[in-house]
Amino acid sequence: MGYTLAYHRTGEIMSDSQNQRYDCVVLGAGLAGLYAAYLLRQSNFSVCVLEARERVGGRVCTWRALANQQHAELGPEFVDSNHSRVIRLAERFNLTLSTRPDFWGVSPTPPLGRRARRAWRQFWNAIDALAAQIPDRYAPWHAPEPLRPLDCVTMRAYAERLGVWEAGEPLFRRYTQNMEATEPENLSVYSVAAQEAFYGKGVAAGVYRFVDGTDTLPRALADAVVAQGGELRLNTPVEAIEQIPDGVRVHARQEGKPLTVQASHAIVALPFPVLTQLEWRPALASWRVEALQHAGRGAVIRTLIQFRRRFWRDEPYPRAYPSRSEVSAVWEETDLQAGDSGVLSFWTGGESARRWASLSEQARIDECLRLLEGMYPECRAQVVAARSHDWQADPFAQHAYIYHAPGYLTEALPLLRQHEGRVHFAGDYLSLFVGYMEGALESGERAAQAVQHASS
Ligand SMILES: Cc1cc2nc3c(=O)[nH]c(=O)nc-3n(C[C@H](O)[C@H](O)[C@H](O)COP(=O)(O)OP(=O)(O)OC[C@H]3O[C@@H](n4cnc5c(N)ncnc54)[C@H](O)[C@@H]3O)c2cc1C
Repeated sequence: MGYTLAYHRTGEIMSDSQNQRYDCVVLGAGLAGLYAAYLLRQSNFSVCVLEARERVGGRVCTWRALANQQHAELGPEFVDSNHSRVIRLAERFNLTLSTRPDFWGVSPTPPLGRRARRAWRQFWNAIDALAAQIPDRYAPWHAPEPLRPLDCVTMRAYAERLGVWEAGEPLFRRYTQNMEATEPENLSVYSVAAQEAFYGKGVAAGVYRFVDGTDTLPRALADAVVAQGGELRLNTPVEAIEQIPDGVRVHARQEGKPLTVQASHAIVALPFPVLTQLEWRPALASWRVEALQHAGRGAVIRTLIQFRRRFWRDEPYPRAYPSRSEVSAVWEETDLQAGDSGVLSFWTGGESARRWASLSEQARIDECLRLLEGMYPECRAQVVAARSHDWQADPFAQHAYIYHAPGYLTEALPLLRQHEGRVHFAGDYLSLFVGYMEGALESGERAAQAVQHASS
């Protein structure tokens, strides 16, 4: 809680210094914006961070108001073994990362047969062969001519070409719903290959979690920014960004009152759907607006239910499964937490999440319980608390994370990484760590370096 105190203290100083001009104003206190501000403060740049919500972290959102002091994640949860910035920062701030959960969860669908698994393997062998032809895995937008057209081919169309779609469909769908927050019909197959090339072999996926909750990372970063003399304003939605001859003027509203912040540079670390809803003077470049249309808005609804007892551990392979489900994965959040109670997480991604968007929170929780009752008939009596968050409906996110629609990787991404005058851009959608916290940090680092370079 040191951070909250530090913030209030800074807030008082701020009211005396309304006319101060900063080296950099950072829009958005998600991981991308906070890391950029942290790095700039380390190089002695004066920074002011403006954040619309009443908290830092953005899509990092840990639910803490649970019985037995348990916590669970509504946003990101898993860290891969090659997410070196996340791992390094965890070490720097003394945040403990766990190794793989000891109890993964229960599958909400019956096990898939040999035919599906063979089709799956054939598909990934073909993807590996494509990945091997990408000359520079750090710049996959430079696709050689025979590969480039594949950025306009969807994962489904490619699986059909290989003759593996029909047998593998349930696995392809589960993969894209769980990992890409979309369906195989929407995803560029070239991007799938580029991600394979970029990640390389030997990466252990989802091996770590923050033992005390993922939000300990943005909170530690915010603490550090404020402790180093940076300024952070919560409850301050930005409305307009104006480029002036020697800098940038940002117009926001803090607790309802207009606020203008001036700086030599701006880092816009906002989720991409928000960008075109702001007022830009001069207008955002038309090529940027067009490129943003290729960014796929991945849809995820996460539902968390706390139960009095962890009954699923008594029978981890239930005897019955529901015939079909909008929930593509169920796992336990609390395997490393004390107490008899436990929290299960229900993941709804892609078209299922779009369909569920019209349901109330309670109706979504009911659907999850109905699913679980098919496996554990007595479960409803054990419920202590429940919450469901639809990231598409969240006004300051408007999606869960990006998926690469056809054309995004080769056409849009290289353009979107460019600055416009003194305005630099950051956010997970600009990274090859697609839709990961590591990508947000990498983009923040790149933007901070660009501001340092432009100021030297
Ligand atoms: C359900 C879900 C599961 C995920 N799982 C994982 C996972 O397991 N592992 C992993 O690594 N990643 C995961 N991710 C992705 C990860 O959460 C993101 O990649 C990362 O948090 C994005 O950080 P960011 O700073 O780019 O964006 P954000 O966190 O969205 O930050 C942008 C900030 O801008 C603020 N903002 C918006 N509009 C305005 C405005 N007008 N004025 C001022 N501020 C504004 C927002 O409130 C927010 O704080 C998951 C995401 C979701 C939603």
